[in-house]
Amino acid sequence: MYTLNDKIKNLEPYQPNEGNFNIRCDANESCFDFPKHIREKIKDEVDILDFNRYPDPTAKELCKSFANYYNINPEFVTAGNGSDELISILMNCFMLKGETVVTIEPDFSMYNFYAFLAEVNCITVNKEADLSISADKVIKVINDNNAKAVIFSNPCNPTSVGLNKDEIVRIIKSVNALVILDEAYMDFWESSLLNRVEEFENLLIMRTASKAVGAAAIRLGFTVANTTLTKAIRAVKSPYNVNTLTQKIGKILYDDSKYLANLKKTIVSLRENLYNSLKDLEIKYNDRLLLVSGTSNFVFIRTNEAKAIYDYYIKNGVAIRFMGDYIRITTGTNEENSVIVSLLENYLQQ
Ligand SMILES: *Cc1c(COP(=O)(O)O)cnc(C)c1O
Repeated sequence: MYTLNDKIKNLEPYQPNEGNFNIRCDANESCFDFPKHIREKIKDEVDILDFNRYPDPTAKELCKSFANYYNINPEFVTAGNGSDELISILMNCFMLKGETVVTIEPDFSMYNFYAFLAEVNCITVNKEADLSISADKVIKVINDNNAKAVIFSNPCNPTSVGLNKDEIVRIIKSVNALVILDEAYMDFWESSLLNRVEEFENLLIMRTASKAVGAAAIRLGFTVANTTLTKAIRAVKSPYNVNTLTQKIGKILYDDSKYLANLKKTIVSLRENLYNSLKDLEIKYNDRLLLVSGTSNFVFIRTNEAKAIYDYYIKNGVAIRFMGDYIRITTGTNEENSVIVSLLENYLQQ
């Protein structure tokens, strides 16, 4: 009789919020779909695409456009099917079974998941009460446990709180472990280490097109690291991982720096407005909501009523994210944000 192994036998597939929602603010996607001029360029590419041929295995043109947009060396860039796939590749590339990776809580859940799948030992450092990361604590846990890697998001999903560059550099310089920095939301902040990967033998950065670039549908992410690390990643990834259509669309987007800059500015200002409106509710309904001031495209709120608020939103056709004692709301458009704010006010008034 065939039996599933112990590792997978109790695993459940990832369950996103399903159903028809009028407003989706649960997955930190961009609230803006591609504009017409981008769609036109994509159509032109589709017209001449060689669908019978394998994609460029190194996604050379795409990586060049990405590197050009961020003003870095394309030799340091590798493309993947979203950062999600890249996390899995990194765990299998840089970790041996039984070695230790350090993660920080709360953070993106996929780090622990892919570590588990790679049979890597995961040690978790808790964040401070104010949700900041103590660099000293992280350094000590890495060194005490002889960890081979540490992985965390900066700024953090779900908290939206960022750790400043100097503190991160201090971690990088104080450990022998590989520091994997997930900068999925760094477009919304100005504290990237992208232009410093050459300086460090143990720094690896991940970026994604799913958030600030507004292209979650095409599944596109990148690693940026020195040539030694990059060579290893390229050797481990499957050869034709990023499909040709995604490569073409990604190139169109990263070549359009004016569009991306505008998009980012718009999203940041929408998030600021959403934060300020929700802050008014926090003040009016003292103690029931505790907003965290951060730097991303979403608002993180601690509340004892997280589940009830979540249910209320779902009942009214709005998807948000809730986990334990917090909710996380991605910024929508102006109209969507108005609905989000007035629904929360209705809930709090009941
Ligand atoms: C959304 C998110 C990602 C996933 O990005 P994909 O490129 O869509 O796989 C990675 N890391 C963090 C922290 C995220 O929030």
